[in-house]
Amino acid sequence: MRQLLILSGKGGTGKTTVASAFIDFADARAFADCDVDAPNLHLVMHMQEKPEISDYYGMGKAKIDHSKCISCGICIKNCRFDAISFKEGAYIVEEYGCEGCGVCAYVCPQTAIAIKPDVAGELCLYKNAKVFSTATLKMGSGTSGKLVTQVKKNMQKHCDKDAFAIVDGSPGIGCPVIASISGVDMVLVVAEPSISGMSDMERIVKTVQGFGAKIAVCVNKYDTNIDKALEIEEYCKKNHIPFMGRISYDKSAAEAINKGMSLAKVDCRASEEIDRMYLNTMECFNETKKIHL
Ligand code: SF4
Ligand code: SF4
Repeated sequence: MRQLLILSGKGGTGKTTVASAFIDFADARAFADCDVDAPNLHLVMHMQEKPEISDYYGMGKAKIDHSKCISCGICIKNCRFDAISFKEGAYIVEEYGCEGCGVCAYVCPQTAIAIKPDVAGELCLYKNAKVFSTATLKMGSGTSGKLVTQVKKNMQKHCDKDAFAIVDGSPGIGCPVIASISGVDMVLVVAEPSISGMSDMERIVKTVQGFGAKIAVCVNKYDTNIDKALEIEEYCKKNHIPFMGRISYDKSAAEAINKGMSLAKVDCRASEEIDRMYLNTMECFNETKKIHL
């Protein structure tokens, strides 16, 4: 499968706006939303059919069998996540603190603790004419990287080997981003022209380059800070990173986005610019080699 991943160093840069427009411009038959903490690609893609929903099980959680517990306190001393407490005469596991590492079960002299499967999220798959894979992480769950891997596997399972897919990644440089980079042919970073946007872009560029992935950059709302936008272009030139284009701040685009519309279906300046950027990106994409982590 050939995959183009759209990333940003932080939330709110317009990553999903670019991803959804690219999906429509490409008429992509496969796409995924790997922003499992705050998925919103489905709000723009308007899939008609009912999705297949399944539970995602994370690391599991410790459960204490109080009928076996002798209150020795060994578990509480060995839990480095401070997830066990002693309340009202009993040892209890705090659901949101437990990382499922299993140390307490290992040290308990009474085998009173077991790691039980725990639903950490919900996977959602549309697989009719188009394959769209997405998921939502459950509040307090910390296995977002593994969930992202599952989202991508679900997409790949239902596509031809040489299908083209567009993947909307998650913001930042954490586990879900690293998981989303695996297997992609190219990463397009959507940058924001501001001091923090510049710094966030450099962090994500270095992260992607650290994995040897091919990378390109574009700037959204470039005219809100032309000096910073030029600085980003200069950074790309200096570091031999292909620059795909600029998108203007466009009031009619903002209105369309608020109505849940893909910019590929809107007649406005930003839409034309993204269309050009899409063509540039595909030219760059077609010269790339796949990245395996
Ligand atoms: S280690 Fe086992 S027996 Fe000891 S307090 Fe914890 S659960 Fe109870
Ligand atoms: S499984 Fe690990 S994190 Fe959870 S309570 Fe036991 S030791 Fe603590």
